[in-house]
Amino acid sequence: MVAIPYLGHRGQPLTLRFRCIQDHDHVGHGKYNTLTGDIPRMYGVDSIHSASDEIHLTEGEFDRIIHRKIGWHSVAVPGVEMWFARHRRMLAGFSRVWIWSDPDAAGSKLTTTVCKSLRSARPVRLRVGDVTETYKAGGAEALYELLDKEKAK
Ligand SMILES: [Zn+2]
Repeated sequence: MVAIPYLGHRGQPLTLRFRCIQDHDHVGHGKYNTLTGDIPRMYGVDSIHSASDEIHLTEGEFDRIIHRKIGWHSVAVPGVEMWFARHRRMLAGFSRVWIWSDPDAAGSKLTTTVCKSLRSARPVRLRVGDVTETYKAGGAEALYELLDKEKAK
């Protein structure tokens, strides 16, 4: 499994999550695995301290890693059921929060939940796949273009 460290804004370790990268049915364990008793956290909170007035939000840690790779400040919720009131408070200071949910039913549920909770939230419409798939297909340019389209609205 890939270990995904959750770090605080000073780089201190908060927790670890694990993602199984085997291509199988994950019998006896989840695709994602969390330490027992751990509270659901936002991933990449150092971006909250580094971003200026806009920030991005992804569904899943790997998509957030892609955002950082292309130069954006971004945080992730580790699943569609993982948006909580305390996360709204953490992002309340931003004038715009761009939401990059997966283009499927679960993703649109996350988008709806976040947009209801946060007036500054705006969804970015993904077409090819999730953030990682879009990046693999078209590189950073594909993600920049999708954001530009939303900003032009
Ligand atoms: Zn597995």
